[in-house]
Amino acid sequence: MAAPLPVAPDSADPNFADLIAARPGLSMHAQDGLVMEEVPLSRIAREVGTPTWVYSAGTLRRRYRALKAALDGAGLNASVHYATKANDNQAVLRVLAAEGAGADIVSVGELRATMAAGIAASRTVFSGVGKKAEEIRFALGQGIFQINAESVEEIAMISAIAAEMGVLAPVALRVNPDVDAKTHAKITTGKAENKFGIAFEDAAPLYARMAALPGIRPIGIATHIGSQITEGVAAFHAAYARLAEMIRGFRASGLPVERVDCGGGLGIPYRDEVAPPPEALAGAIKATLGGLGLPVMLEPGRWIAGPAGVLLASIVLQKQGSNRRFLVADAAMNDLIRPAMYEAWHGIVPLDPVRFADDAMPADIVGPVCESGDTFARGRAMPLMAPGDFIAFLDAGAYGAVMSSTYNARPLAAEVLVDGNRFAVVRPRQMPEDLLAHQRLPDWLAP
Ligand SMILES: *Cc1c(COP(=O)(O)O)cnc(C)c1O
Repeated sequence: MAAPLPVAPDSADPNFADLIAARPGLSMHAQDGLVMEEVPLSRIAREVGTPTWVYSAGTLRRRYRALKAALDGAGLNASVHYATKANDNQAVLRVLAAEGAGADIVSVGELRATMAAGIAASRTVFSGVGKKAEEIRFALGQGIFQINAESVEEIAMISAIAAEMGVLAPVALRVNPDVDAKTHAKITTGKAENKFGIAFEDAAPLYARMAALPGIRPIGIATHIGSQITEGVAAFHAAYARLAEMIRGFRASGLPVERVDCGGGLGIPYRDEVAPPPEALAGAIKATLGGLGLPVMLEPGRWIAGPAGVLLASIVLQKQGSNRRFLVADAAMNDLIRPAMYEAWHGIVPLDPVRFADDAMPADIVGPVCESGDTFARGRAMPLMAPGDFIAFLDAGAYGAVMSSTYNARPLAAEVLVDGNRFAVVRPRQMPEDLLAHQRLPDWLAP
């Protein structure tokens, strides 16, 4: 084997110990290695196999409570509607339901999932730019708390369906405040060029027209400017200031406003980002919307679920290329797509305490899928690893399992919930035969 290359001295990556120290749900132990709450992750990897997603119930609870406390502490009358799309596992939803969370959903599939987990439709917001008529009908039939309408066309559709059903649809306008959230282009949603929401200038006349339509109860306005926002709260502040100005205008024209929906988007540190604390977000809401005396809603997804999860994988082999060392894992881009899709950085740490403390040298960490994009990290400081060694991808609780596919006929990974000293499989690993079970041959090709 070629001599290990030294770690580039300018590498700004945090080391393993710093990554773990910054994540209260995880700790490194001399005997047990990396532990989530009170459960050694290597035990889960051995018993359940890899790749496997593992979620910490304690971290979910702690983060939900921290967010709620920040909003309450600012004196806001606030409700938290967890963005289901970040992680829609039933066990995760149940933990949050027990905390009193409402939900934000973007499909009837998610509404069925949240209701099954005990979050009533009457605490749930229906977002999304392309709701189908049957989805609107189903949501209204279940007594949905609020529908965030994104276009004049959709408002007409909701009005017709609600009138036909003889109900009043609670509708908020999703407004596009045209602010730059300074996040990755694929997850910014509040600029004028994005497909989301109603242009700021169009909102006031549309709200007035909406209020006059049959079947509609005008609720107020909503916004969501993007995801993984870490550069302070200036973008939130700017967006909410525009909402406040708009609401004052509505009131001046005698239009009713019941509440305001501030969306999600609060970012988390994956590498070394300085993410604003929830108190800063609460402060921005208070400073802009606080004077209106309205209930406010928040739709956080990543902030609650992201740090609560890891993806466990095994090293298949360590391959020495001509000038690079490759660690080939048994997890791939079909499991965790964020690095390939958003150039996202995830902490990747060995579970074994000896490996954790070993000298590290650069390696590319890749999956087995037949695409060069199936690369989790390049030039990452990692110790020597042997086949069968376990690693954990950190902060994989949001936009992880939900974005998985079966590309390369790779079955979906198992999911596990840890709660104190207990753990349970909350979604069994898909079996190779499951991939074939739902395919059908036309009769002319049947054997
Ligand atoms: C995705 C989304 C959220 C959640 O975003 P996070 O960045 O995960 O907090 C909230 N509201 C809407 C409308 C969304 O589309």
